[in-house]
Amino acid sequence: MIKKLICIECPIGCSLSVDIENCRVIKVDGDKCPKGKEHAVSEVENPMRVLTSTVLAVGLPFKMIPVRTDRPIPKSMILEASREVKKIRIKKAPHVGEIIIPNFLNLGMNLVATREFLCEEDNL
Ligand code: SF4
Repeated sequence: MIKKLICIECPIGCSLSVDIENCRVIKVDGDKCPKGKEHAVSEVENPMRVLTSTVLAVGLPFKMIPVRTDRPIPKSMILEASREVKKIRIKKAPHVGEIIIPNFLNLGMNLVATREFLCEEDNL
């Protein structure tokens, strides 16, 4: 089976033609550098994504705090990870980059805040 992909490893965005057999990449055409094949293999055999979401703030002047994983996680885990994020409640305004949940879902990466919130007490 031939699958068409766009390599997103650099702004060139090569159009890749990926030959797949038994869920494995056999051959890649259209890549201008070795990263193209790496991207195709990752996308076909073990796709990863950074999860971006929001968590609920409790007792703070804002309702939601944007978060993301600090590394990509398996695409197959995105739904479960999203469900876990919805259970989180934050009672103290985090700083940007602050770890909200370390080793999130035992995946070896952290869930971190992606926005700075300046509360009145932060300005004292
Ligand atoms: S294959 Fe190489 S040159 Fe082409 S988009 Fe990917 S990283 Fe860029």
